[in-house]
Amino acid sequence: RPVVAIVGRPNVGKSTLFNRLARRRLAIVHDQPGVTRDRKEAEAIVGGRDVTLVDTAGLEEAPPETIAGRMTAGSERAVDQADLVLFVIDGRAGLTPADEHFAAWLRRKGRPLVVVVNKAEGRAAAGGVAEAYALGLGEPVAISAEHGEGLGELHARVAELLGPPPEDDAEEAEAQAGRERPLRLAVVGRPNAGKSTLVNRLLGEERMLTGPEPGITRDSVATPWRDPEGRLVRLVDTAGLRKRARVTGELERLSTAETIRSLKEAEVVVLVLDALAPLEGQDIAIATLAEREGRALVIALNKWDLVPIAERDAARRLLADRLEASLAQLRGMPVVPLSALTGAGVEKLVPAVWKAYDAWNTRVPTGELNRWFEAAIARHPPPLVDGRRLKLRYITQAKARPPTFVIFGTRSELLPDAYARYLVNAIRDDFGLQGVPIRLSLRGTK
Ligand code: GDP
Repeated sequence: RPVVAIVGRPNVGKSTLFNRLARRRLAIVHDQPGVTRDRKEAEAIVGGRDVTLVDTAGLEEAPPETIAGRMTAGSERAVDQADLVLFVIDGRAGLTPADEHFAAWLRRKGRPLVVVVNKAEGRAAAGGVAEAYALGLGEPVAISAEHGEGLGELHARVAELLGPPPEDDAEEAEAQAGRERPLRLAVVGRPNAGKSTLVNRLLGEERMLTGPEPGITRDSVATPWRDPEGRLVRLVDTAGLRKRARVTGELERLSTAETIRSLKEAEVVVLVLDALAPLEGQDIAIATLAEREGRALVIALNKWDLVPIAERDAARRLLADRLEASLAQLRGMPVVPLSALTGAGVEKLVPAVWKAYDAWNTRVPTGELNRWFEAAIARHPPPLVDGRRLKLRYITQAKARPPTFVIFGTRSELLPDAYARYLVNAIRDDFGLQGVPIRLSLRGTK
């Protein structure tokens, strides 16, 4: 995780900014024997990234009266270790010689840097902002750490400088090793929906690479195979449990545990429905679990051969209505009618699975996302709460797999659920995230 250091002369509001951005205190380490110096660190999400935030307040207040004496070794180390420096000045006081000294020192350090003009609530700091420009350290961001103003802009700037988060560690390792990353797929559904028949159909002996191998957990197996386009898939299965359950007659109870296990191991989940009885309580329960686990979901509407051709349109509409009514959070989920028994339609399943996988891995660049965000808000502005309009300032995608977004705004914690749902649905429609759970969290800047 990147390190972000907050620096500046005393009393400019470094600690206030630190407390404003910090989520959780990490540790207090003692610096330099003799003089006890606290170096405050915290976990924070800044600019959509998980960062370690370092507060240097106290460090520069060390001993001597000279300005140079304030740049203690601790402060210097914080800057040297930082991936990004937030250089805070007091917009009301204007630039002081100490600020200019700091600026010259930081310029020599050459770390990525944002000049933060604090105490800028209202118009109080217009002069300070102009002076901060003159430092030649880039465009300053005016904020009020105390009142939480301007933080959206600050997050946006940090996002630009830090860039998007790296992919999953595992994914990165695979890519570095030049290895192909398989898609982990689970096939789940009620007993007798046709899971085994479908799996056998998909694997079609000759494409199976080896027999089942140990899966991620002790109770699972994973069968690697190549899909018709040659892409590597690992079919994860906790079938051992299924067999045991049949023997002991504890099918219902154990199949839930088995399903949960499969969901946890999978990236994409194929939910097999019986077209003659689609989306009953148990199906909805499984889909809800998949959503909760953050998995991409594709529906295989099996036994389609048993639905008379004349009734197929009606059957699809019925399923669509039930999905809308019971699984609105997975709106637009892909549905592939097929017959595992005859093989009809099965060839459409794998492309739908890869499409869902790609959607699940989607990363929307911050700039594009915020242009979209502005338009979405303009189209349908956030509601008034207590007679005042909520200000949503900025959005960032914190991670993929599943796509997870964070919105920063003033009093955003008061945002009605209906509006959050509007945004989630708009994200889903506009970025093609059908069948993928979308996480949205709101961060108030008070
Ligand atoms: P599982 O419990 O979900 O693994 O279900 P199975 O794969 O064992 O299938 C249950 C029953 O449904 C078996 O008798 C299958 O032959 C039958 N079946 C599976 N798929 C289809 C299909 O697409 N069409 C028809 N007509 N029967 C199917």
